[in-house]
Amino acid sequence: MNTVISNPFRDKSLNGANGLNCVFCKIAKKEIAAEILYEDSDISAFKDAHPLAPVHILIIPKRHIESVNNWTRSDVQLAGKMIIVAKEIAEKAGIKDSGYKLLFRVGRDGGQEVGHIHLHLLGGARLVEDIHPVK
Ligand SMILES: [Zn+2]
Repeated sequence: MNTVISNPFRDKSLNGANGLNCVFCKIAKKEIAAEILYEDSDISAFKDAHPLAPVHILIIPKRHIESVNNWTRSDVQLAGKMIIVAKEIAEKAGIKDSGYKLLFRVGRDGGQEVGHIHLHLLGGARLVEDIHPVK
């Protein structure tokens, strides 16, 4: 369970529209190893294989949902639970009081690299605000 896999998160060929070839679905089903920090019947959370901050954890729904664009009001409970789980993980990681970022990337312009909803939890250091249009 503690084996970190090599670079699946940046390989767009692993994204499947139906979830069959989706790397995050495979992590949720434990077909691919990741350092899982939390899981319940709906949600899995694991360390990003290529962390951008001292704490970089991804919180995903176990069910394959491509992006926030595919959520509807019927997903309110799942979306809210993902945020609460992120806060609980931040607390366990000792960064609740120092602060952290919660980030959903959506589609091309949002920089989403895996076609399965994932909430980034980033912290453990003061993070720069590097949001600007690509030149
Ligand atoms: Zn998936």
